[in-house]
Amino acid sequence: MALRFYNTLTQEVEPFQPLQGNTVRMYTCGPTVYNFVHIGNFRTFTFQDILRRWLRYRGYELDHVMNVTDVDDKIIVNAAKENKSIEEYTAGFTKAFFEDAAALRLEQPEHVAPATKHIPEMVSAIQRLAEKGCTYTSDGSTYFRISTFPQYGKLSHNDFSGIRSGARVDVDEYDKADARDFVLWKGKRDDEPSWDTPFGAGRPGWHIECSAMAMSYLGETLDIHAGGVDLIFPHHENEIAQSESISGKSFARFWLHSEHLHIESQKMSKSLGNFYTLRDLFEIGHAPESIRYLLASVPHRKKLNFTFEGLKAAAKSVERLRDFELRVTSTRFPAGRNQDVSERSNEAIRQFEAGMDDDLNTAEALAAIFEYVRAMNTAIDDGQFQEENRWDAARVLEVFDGVFDVLKPSAPNALRGYGQAPSGPSDAEIEALIEERAQAKKARNFARSDEIRASLLEQGVVLEDTKDGVRWKRK
Ligand SMILES: [Zn+2]
Repeated sequence: MALRFYNTLTQEVEPFQPLQGNTVRMYTCGPTVYNFVHIGNFRTFTFQDILRRWLRYRGYELDHVMNVTDVDDKIIVNAAKENKSIEEYTAGFTKAFFEDAAALRLEQPEHVAPATKHIPEMVSAIQRLAEKGCTYTSDGSTYFRISTFPQYGKLSHNDFSGIRSGARVDVDEYDKADARDFVLWKGKRDDEPSWDTPFGAGRPGWHIECSAMAMSYLGETLDIHAGGVDLIFPHHENEIAQSESISGKSFARFWLHSEHLHIESQKMSKSLGNFYTLRDLFEIGHAPESIRYLLASVPHRKKLNFTFEGLKAAAKSVERLRDFELRVTSTRFPAGRNQDVSERSNEAIRQFEAGMDDDLNTAEALAAIFEYVRAMNTAIDDGQFQEENRWDAARVLEVFDGVFDVLKPSAPNALRGYGQAPSGPSDAEIEALIEERAQAKKARNFARSDEIRASLLEQGVVLEDTKDGVRWKRK
């Protein structure tokens, strides 16, 4: 069965292929950089990373745009409170976002598009909407008139036939149950930051930035538009209304949405005290790989209940896979290649692929890997696993880790102190010390050999003496 995705627009699972050639043109809604990004958002960004990696595994090239919302009401209020310009205020949080994303091993999209760097594109999009009669102006602000777009509601599958025409609000955040005209351009108030345009000084509404930037980088029809379910309405519905009113064409062929993340079965909120940024989790000692594993392990269309038990279990799962990798690479096996073991490895890859092709069913893909690891550990115990089967196992782990990317431990200091160079010993330094320890042992200098073991342990490196030599791993 071919690669297929559940499409929010059609409410069906559909086979996926890009519209033109081999390149997938994809747009994802990025962060609003008014604060550190919480792990609910990172669930969505991790899902998008898995999506990118799987599209590439399936032979596609990517042209992916992600916006960064660096002007909005909260940013303006917060920057003013701190007596900073919005550029100064957002620069720090933008940097923090990309540090967090790198710690979680999220690939950077081909284009990162800050809103404030694309004001001319937004102005021209609004002008085209005005020419088509889709806008009206009131109190210096420009609004989109929803009654000009009869298909409004086709993504969220809501019935908006009862909309009062002309009703409006002029803030980005409003009651989702209340579908009304939305603002394209906010007229300048007081000394707020503003840009001069033919329709007056002001600043963009949130929705227009995504339509304008998506279409200017990727053209009128995208292959995939993705985001969290909370964006379906009104944000994505509004993007469709704007883009399709301008082009007269379908804006995005596939709409993919990831479900909510709950913490210990509760909605994450500051008032409940269960609001976590990635940094909060690093600070209490959780490794980026455990967090990435947990976020990726639940298929994106299922709600994810994030628990600290689950995080511990994720760390254990990662460790089990690393132990298997170490065992396969460092054990001496009988010469030859056992065909049954090779075939079992191919089967594991086929099962993994089948899971991922099925709307990125990561749970099924992981189950295939763990069944395989169990079977191989038994094969090793029984002496069935042979020297050249190593390469079969390496291939399985490579396919797995190309998507999940958790096998290589982060440098110990990646957990804290972003931006600092990692200070733990490098692989080469560890190998050199292990060699020195072997020499010391040979010379019966046990004090020195014990000292090396203890000092490595202190730096988070565990040595294990086996009959096949010394194995080591980072804790
Ligand atoms: Zn957007």
